[in-house]
Amino acid sequence: MPGSAVRMPLLFVGHGSPMNALEANIYTRTWAALAARMPRPRAILCLSAHFAGEDSRVVAADSPRTIHDFYGFPRALHEASYPAPGSPELARRVQALLPQARPTQDWGLDHGAWSVLMRMYPAADIPVVQLSLELSLTGAQQMALGTQLRPLREEGVLILGSGNVVHNLRLINGAATVPYPWAQAFDTAVHDAVMAGDSKTLANYMALPGAGLAVPTTEHFVPLLYVLGATHPDEKAEAFNRAYVLGSLSMTGYLIGA
Ligand code: ZN
Repeated sequence: MPGSAVRMPLLFVGHGSPMNALEANIYTRTWAALAARMPRPRAILCLSAHFAGEDSRVVAADSPRTIHDFYGFPRALHEASYPAPGSPELARRVQALLPQARPTQDWGLDHGAWSVLMRMYPAADIPVVQLSLELSLTGAQQMALGTQLRPLREEGVLILGSGNVVHNLRLINGAATVPYPWAQAFDTAVHDAVMAGDSKTLANYMALPGAGLAVPTTEHFVPLLYVLGATHPDEKAEAFNRAYVLGSLSMTGYLIGA
């Protein structure tokens, strides 16, 4: 997709509950405000915590279906759809940059993608392609994949990571008004490293304080590594939604290179 003069910023969003798709709250209002502030992308490449595995797959559908990959939420959420077009053209471009990525029709848009995009771009008129996360790689290798994707930014493509820096569902506490100390410690350590552009520390995130409880499984953290890999060394990050829900989820997001 050559020809766009604007280098797109990068975005990592802490998506939290799927209900954010339908709610105007402090988090989703920030997502909408960011979309209004950024250049309008020609297409979006989404790296979601909910499309992850041992290999790399890129969704090559013309019309990716809305996947309701959750249970027990209100009917309105189970019936929601986000009818954005796909982009087989962008899928092919991703394959050119990341030769191990295999095209698939067996996925569409999961809630990590559409719950955020519904608030950012409610008209659903920007093509969206999902690329799966390769969870078997090291943090440094995952960052390197992000670096391979970096040229897309010059082509008007928004690289959107969607996960949560701190994500421990086993320890969620509906009565919590403050985060667990380990949640805050890990989120703060990650924040400080992102602000400092300290890729080495971030690639070795499991050595940071609180990591064992904050990242019991890696899929919600890894989208941030792909995004960081696509960053140029001189680019600055800004944090948003620095808050916690249910004690053990952080909503922190990062906008980089805006
Ligand atoms: Zn999630």
